[in-house]
Amino acid sequence: MQIIQMAFPQGKTKAFTVSYDDGVRQDERLLAAMRQYGIRGTFNLNYGTLGRVGHAVIDGHDTDVSTFREEELRTMYEGQEIACHALTHKKLTEISAGTAACEVIEDRRNLERVLGRLVTGFAYPFGAYDETVLQVLRSCGIRYARTVESTHAFRLPQEFLTWHPTCHHNDEKVTELLEAFCGEPVGRDGARLFYLWGHAYEFDQRDNWERAEQIFSYVSRYEAEIWFATNGEICDYTEAFRRLEFSADGGLAVNRTALDVWLLADGRAVCVPAKETVRLN
Ligand SMILES: [Zn+2]
Repeated sequence: MQIIQMAFPQGKTKAFTVSYDDGVRQDERLLAAMRQYGIRGTFNLNYGTLGRVGHAVIDGHDTDVSTFREEELRTMYEGQEIACHALTHKKLTEISAGTAACEVIEDRRNLERVLGRLVTGFAYPFGAYDETVLQVLRSCGIRYARTVESTHAFRLPQEFLTWHPTCHHNDEKVTELLEAFCGEPVGRDGARLFYLWGHAYEFDQRDNWERAEQIFSYVSRYEAEIWFATNGEICDYTEAFRRLEFSADGGLAVNRTALDVWLLADGRAVCVPAKETVRLN
């Protein structure tokens, strides 16, 4: 029997995504760097704080926390994904389930109205979640949600509602992790994901914008092997892959979804097109 492993589009074996929170104006500089290197990702926004102008003390630093205006969203984040981050950035574990549901659904409803498309991603304000919050997200139609718990690993999540990132951009291990991710061939577990997260204002706080540039230019050199995608694209693709069906002898793969998926059959990249059956041997 052949060994079947997950691959990404075009048979690539690695994916890279980023996730940045709060919709602050520093996103503009980050987006420019992402565009330059072909990096893609997801920006988690609080609809209720759009158009804010001002500073706040965050982690002991005076920080410009001004945000984009509603009418700027479509153009500013062109080519990237916008997801929810609760209407007013409340810690969802410290409010009632009803108020939490309001925070999620009102953020989602308004962002969808502004963007004219579905918004089903989320990042937990302050990284806080519990069983009740997970239930709230499910009932609000949220399909994937990022935590702030670094794994220092390259696994795809089993449960997309607790999607743990690889690391924060200020993590002291970020360079080591990038080298391991890009340099090592994919092993027995198949497709790997590097998931970077943060807040764009943190580059201002530490005056380390060159770090964004270094990370993006480093991974972009491996574009032959890496799929650069938003959180939503990775979730959609992984769910489609996991829905593949195989014959008892492993010789046939059936894709009943609307997305083409790729796999490695004994290391050989095979596409199983949407709605088709493919012979693997
Ligand atoms: Zn936040």
